[in-house]
Amino acid sequence: MKNRVAHHVKKLQPSGIRRFFDLAANMEGVISLGVGEPDFVTSWGVREACITSLQNGYTSYTANAGLLELRNGISQYLEKQFDVTYSASTDIIVTVGASQALDLAIRAIVDPGDEVIVIEPSFVSYAPLIELVGGRAVKVGADATNGFTVDMEDLENAITPNTKAILLCFPNNPTGTMLSKEELFEISLLIEKYDLLVLSDEIYAELCFDTSFTSFATLPGMKERTILISGFSKGFAMTGWRLGFVAGPTDIVEAMLKIHQYAMMCASTMAQYGAIEALKNGRNDIEDMKRSYRRRRNYFVSSLNEIGLPCHVPGGAFYAFPSVKQTGLSSQEFAEKLLLEEKVAVVPGDVFGKSGEGYIRCSYASSMEQLQEAIKRMERFVKNYR
Ligand code: PMP
Repeated sequence: MKNRVAHHVKKLQPSGIRRFFDLAANMEGVISLGVGEPDFVTSWGVREACITSLQNGYTSYTANAGLLELRNGISQYLEKQFDVTYSASTDIIVTVGASQALDLAIRAIVDPGDEVIVIEPSFVSYAPLIELVGGRAVKVGADATNGFTVDMEDLENAITPNTKAILLCFPNNPTGTMLSKEELFEISLLIEKYDLLVLSDEIYAELCFDTSFTSFATLPGMKERTILISGFSKGFAMTGWRLGFVAGPTDIVEAMLKIHQYAMMCASTMAQYGAIEALKNGRNDIEDMKRSYRRRRNYFVSSLNEIGLPCHVPGGAFYAFPSVKQTGLSSQEFAEKLLLEEKVAVVPGDVFGKSGEGYIRCSYASSMEQLQEAIKRMERFVKNYR
């Protein structure tokens, strides 16, 4: 049988992150700074709420959009933390992670031939999801000389009559970069001028260390143009629960719900009960985790700079994105040799897009002892390549 796999899937490249996970998984004594997830276990109260829901026998499907109690919780949470107002009954869908929220949003707005601008380096799934629906991901390199912020001229030059949306993610994976409110405002002017939508991936909104987070929909005129994507994985340390949400203009959320009801039915019921509790009583834990990440960021980033891997200070998330250019190695060579010679796993920056070449992503969501040991090994490694 010919062509068992569809052409648009054959064209997709496997994620470059996985290759390094697989390499590292088969080695002993590896310190992994590769994985993009919290090193905290989900709060006990949240786990307990999930267990209680099972004890109560809440094991059936929920409404397609998710439990109304959870959507109410999300609506109140968004209003309280980020000053955005969404109706629980019409503007919010509970999804299987922010991943599914992204997929739904892209499927709901992108026609074949439409272009979506992606600021790179970026999370690995954006471009493939856009391409799967016949859209074109137009990459705009972030400004490495300016802490990987957005050059407005480059952004405007990338807009064409086919541009449908701009995808934003700040704090960013992999750079940790945050944009200021003023920078976001500048972007909003382009959105207005060219009549575009915004896919705003706000999954790291809870992890901003130096300045407060600006939700894109709070900017003048942007609520009607913004699809807000977020979830419980990062701020609430709930990656394995696979729970996220999307909030946006009613017509677009309705379109997403049409896809969601056929493709997914609803997110996991027991996870939704856990999330209700996370929103009710999780604030202190979030603040504790944030303080801990901030401490580790300060140590790790200043140490990278000291050992000769220049790194801007990332304002959020839990990633450092140092340059490895002065070693003369490419991102891939650096990551591979560092793993084989010193058993430290990092992710080569080029897997996040061409503009990530010459950098590596290190997740500092590891214990302080592990980070200290990683720095020791990296220092030894870098000395050999000076
Ligand atoms: N967006 C970004 C920027 C991410 O880094 C991730 C996870 N690494 C996701 C979305 C997906 O998160 P979730 O676990 O909620 O699917």
